[in-house]
Amino acid sequence: MTEIHTLVLGFANALLVRERGLLLVDTGIHVDETRYAAEFARLGLQARDIQLIVVTHGHADHYGQAALLKTMTGAPLLCHEKAAPLLRNGGHAPAVARNELGEKVLKMLRPNLPLVAAPVEPDIIMTGEEFDLGDYGIDGRAVYTPGHTDCSISVVLASGQALVGDILVPSPFTGEPCLAYFATDEQRLLTSVRHLLSQASLFYGGHGGPFTKDQVLKLL
Ligand SMILES: [Zn+2]
Repeated sequence: MTEIHTLVLGFANALLVRERGLLLVDTGIHVDETRYAAEFARLGLQARDIQLIVVTHGHADHYGQAALLKTMTGAPLLCHEKAAPLLRNGGHAPAVARNELGEKVLKMLRPNLPLVAAPVEPDIIMTGEEFDLGDYGIDGRAVYTPGHTDCSISVVLASGQALVGDILVPSPFTGEPCLAYFATDEQRLLTSVRHLLSQASLFYGGHGGPFTKDQVLKLL
């Protein structure tokens, strides 16, 4: 199994994948440089050890501090082509409630909205279905997995672990794993989850996890 560290950063998590290379997936939001440096130091790392930053989708809680982290790490930032205009403008992909839980979460979050992300220029813009991460020392791929947003990507490792952003989330009320309660396209979300299940068996979300294959299968 590949070493994956979750940086719990309040509103959303960032994940560090350590193989030959070091990959940061998502950035959290409302976190300053000192806090990131402390999180990296806790793992015996420095910001400059990070070779690539992947943003899973254009929601501010997942990329809000990408500009700061690009400066700290000197690493390029990869996102999907549909996320690029959002990142450049500090924008936010639509969060569409898919079910009753989504409505409840939106209501709960409303006092904290809108989340404000710093605009950031992506360096690697993913246009196809997959992007190989081998050049960054990671035995895996970024895979286009739309549904939660139309710009969502996941990282699928050869080890069978996958980092899926908000495609799988714990309920903020019970902690139980759920399929994204926000989805711009429910059918594409389900297709993406089935695609991920065919390629991985342990799933790390941007707000919790990891979730096992059995846990995810029960959600379909
Ligand atoms: Zn999201």
